[in-house]
Amino acid sequence: MRERRLIIAIDGPAGSGKSTTARLLAKRLGYTYLDTGAFYRALTLKVLESGVSPDDGANVLQLAESIQIELQPRADKNRVLLDGRDVTQAIREPRVTNAISPISENSRVRAIMVDKQRAIGRNGGVVMEGRDIGTVVFPEADLKIFMQASLDERARRRQDELATMGIARDIETLRQEIARRDQKDSNRKIAPLMQAADAVLLDTTSMTIEQQVEFILEALEKKLKTR
Ligand code: C5P
Repeated sequence: MRERRLIIAIDGPAGSGKSTTARLLAKRLGYTYLDTGAFYRALTLKVLESGVSPDDGANVLQLAESIQIELQPRADKNRVLLDGRDVTQAIREPRVTNAISPISENSRVRAIMVDKQRAIGRNGGVVMEGRDIGTVVFPEADLKIFMQASLDERARRRQDELATMGIARDIETLRQEIARRDQKDSNRKIAPLMQAADAVLLDTTSMTIEQQVEFILEALEKKLKTR
C-alpha cells in the first residue's frame, strides 16, 4: 500500500481516450476520477439556458461565480450536477460542445474553475483529466500523461460516443469540429492545451483501453522508483 495518495494528471485533445482511461485507472488505484471538461461544459449549458451569449464575458463570469457544480463518482462516468440538477447527458450534446470555446478562453472563468478543481484534488488520491492539469492546475502532480491519437480515430470515437446517446453525426462534420476545437484549445493565450515538459506521451491511436491503463500504471511505477 502506498503511503501518500498521489495526484495523476492526464491531458490531451478531445477523443484521445482521456476520460475512459482516467476513470478505469482511478478505479484500479482506488482514487477519485475527475473530468475537468465537465466543469466547462456545465457552465456552457448554464450560459445557453440563460440566454447569455458565450461571448458576453461579463455575464458569463457572473454565472460562473454563482453556479454550483458537483461531480459524483459513478461506475461508468462522473454524474454531473448543475445547481442540484443532473446534467450528465445534456452537457455532452453538440450544442454545448460547439459553444464552449469562448467560455473556456475566459481567464477569470478559468481561475474560478481551477480553484474548484484544486480544492477537490489537493489532498491527492485523484486522477484528473483535462487540458491544463499538468501545466496549470497541478504542475506538481506526481505523474503527468499527455494522451493523443490521430484525428480520424478521435472523430470515430466521438461518433461512437454520440451514437450511444442516440445522436447520429456524420464523421466529416465531427472531424472538422474536433480540429477546430483542438486549434482553439491549443492556441488560446491562457492555459493552452500543451504537453508539459515532464509529461509522458501516450499515443492511443491503435491501443485498447486496457493497454492504456497498463501503460500508465507502468509509467507510475517507473516514476515512483526514480524518486
Ligand atoms: O474534455 P472535454 O472535451 O469534455 O472538454 C470540453 C472543452 O472544455 C475543451 O475543448 C476545452 O475548451 C475545455 N476544457 C478546458 N480545460 C480543461 C478541460 C476542458 O479548457 N481542463
